[in-house]
Amino acid sequence: MIHESANYLWNAGQLRERHSIARWSFGHANELPMAIGFTLPRGWWCGFFLSRRFIFDETQNGDVDFVAGPMRYSFSDEELIDRLRAARSQDPRGFEELRVHLKAGQDGHVVWPPDVAEIVACKIKTSWFDTQWHRTHESAGARTELLGQMDISRQRGINRVAFLHIGVTKPTEERVETWKASSQQLDMAMSSFPNAFPDTEIAYGHLKAGMAATCDGLESMAGTHTYITIERSPGLINPIIEQRWHKQLRARLAELPQPGYLNIFIHECPKCWKWRHGSSPDPAQQPCICGASPLDL
Ligand SMILES: [Zn+2]
Repeated sequence: MIHESANYLWNAGQLRERHSIARWSFGHANELPMAIGFTLPRGWWCGFFLSRRFIFDETQNGDVDFVAGPMRYSFSDEELIDRLRAARSQDPRGFEELRVHLKAGQDGHVVWPPDVAEIVACKIKTSWFDTQWHRTHESAGARTELLGQMDISRQRGINRVAFLHIGVTKPTEERVETWKASSQQLDMAMSSFPNAFPDTEIAYGHLKAGMAATCDGLESMAGTHTYITIERSPGLINPIIEQRWHKQLRARLAELPQPGYLNIFIHECPKCWKWRHGSSPDPAQQPCICGASPLDL
């Protein structure tokens, strides 16, 4: 029997987006910045649910579901590509390439604070499936609201904006071959995954991803995930120019120590509001110095 008390996403209520992103992140957080265009030689900094007021320098409450910007090394792109090519020829499995990045980080080559001139934001919604899809954001009202939220990012000057729709399934009762059952259920669910993307002339991106739990464990530990499907890549919707709020964002990032990695996650403490960064999308891996539990939402 399924544990009704278990904290599955399909019954997570208000915090479904946060929990689903946290669980989906275990395997896929690195895919999201790449899906919206940050690929080598660029790295990225990104954050889930950072406060609007710290990004846009405004008093309005609320979060930006996902925000990301590019990172680079202090040496040229050509040099990075040459180093990676040499590493690949030594070791096709990729370990030497990892070593190139580790060494560049250790040697202090990650440029910090990062250039904030080109920022991407993502609106995230989660729908859930038992025998049909629920909370699908398909209604006219939900689409208008989604569009409105993406429009706000565009009006602030965010350069590219996308909508990520995550689908999660209620775990099946199957106790034998649970993985197979969850995988089949995910296939079935995703074949009828609703299209919640609002009609718009603006080149907002549209991304989808799916995740299934098993009756043995939560989505992050057990279950099946899909990769991100890019229905539409986010286009450049604002010129890459200095915005009023860039100064504050740059200063806030500059308060953090120089990272040792080209790709980093920014976490915001729910208690003292300080930012910190690390190589894991899981805030519990890098607790805040104030001692607050990262799970206090
Ligand atoms: Zn704190």
